[in-house]
Amino acid sequence: MYTQKFEYTAPKTLDEALHLLAAGAKPLAGGMSLIPMMKLRLAAPEHLVDLGKLRDLNYIREAGGALHIGATTTHAELEGSPLLRQKCPLLAETAAAIGDVQVRNMGTIGGSVAHADPSADYPAALQALEAKLVLKGVKTERTVSAADFFVDAFTTSLEPNEIIREVIVPVEAAETGTCYQKMPQPASGFAIVGVATRVRRSGGKIAFVRIGVTGLSNRGYRAAAAEKALEGKTGSAAEIKSAAALVAQGVDANSDLHASAEFRRHLAAVHAARALTAALARAT
Ligand SMILES: Cc1cc2nc3c(=O)[nH]c(=O)nc-3n(C[C@H](O)[C@H](O)[C@H](O)COP(=O)(O)OP(=O)(O)OC[C@H]3O[C@@H](n4cnc5c(N)ncnc54)[C@H](O)[C@@H]3O)c2cc1C
Repeated sequence: MYTQKFEYTAPKTLDEALHLLAAGAKPLAGGMSLIPMMKLRLAAPEHLVDLGKLRDLNYIREAGGALHIGATTTHAELEGSPLLRQKCPLLAETAAAIGDVQVRNMGTIGGSVAHADPSADYPAALQALEAKLVLKGVKTERTVSAADFFVDAFTTSLEPNEIIREVIVPVEAAETGTCYQKMPQPASGFAIVGVATRVRRSGGKIAFVRIGVTGLSNRGYRAAAAEKALEGKTGSAAEIKSAAALVAQGVDANSDLHASAEFRRHLAAVHAARALTAALARAT
């Protein structure tokens, strides 16, 4: 199937792109989600503005104790970044788990996050990392937390004229172990359920734990009850198992042809236990 006809502009500056978006154009990044939607006639934008050619949106930098990632940085660039692998390995590991090499070479973190597919991988890591997103309009710029950004399936707090300019994640503290585990949908690799964990011990007890979940429901979230259950514990197998059993607590689990709600809840507990066990083993 072909797309409907559309106008295409590859602006040279971010300012030019923002003015075109304010006039009603739609951003194009890697095209991995938008182009298939246009071919299926689920989207029919009249004017596409290609952000992929803007070099000033493609970077991974360390500043002020955090890593700043430009929106058009591809999954492959995140996966292969020595800086990210050293300072925020959870995000590099998550990027490496996306789709296949073609998708990772074209798809971008900004495009994935803006698209907000409930089965996308990044929301688990971004929730666990308590990431921030910088949203830019022609004359505005604001920073929102990942918790506030993801609203519902394919719905975010982006205003129509805004783009994601960058994603900010913390430089991981010493002795923190992290891990991302998912059950991939066999054809696409999308997460039927994915769990991202960060764990740190102090004096033999778990002093810090963050758990982000994707795929289970309409939006990625932090599993607060499971985090609370593990804080102050030693991290024995029994404690991990009972905390992992809480990751889906109070969540309205999705059900589709790939997995029932009950099976998704089971997968969430299994993958949470695996991700917590691996993160603890890496927390040295
Ligand atoms: C075969 C296949 C397998 C895949 N497997 C996985 C997987 O396993 N896990 C996973 O997480 N994803 C998967 N994906 C999705 C992939 O990660 C896409 O890269 C991603 O969803 C969209 O990113 P993009 O850069 O291609 O954005 P595009 O498709 O260009 O755009 C997506 C949407 O975001 C908007 N947009 C783009 N950039 C911005 C910005 N900076 N600010 C505001 N809005 C913006 C666009 O207007 C559009 O609405 C898969 C895709 C395919 C085709």
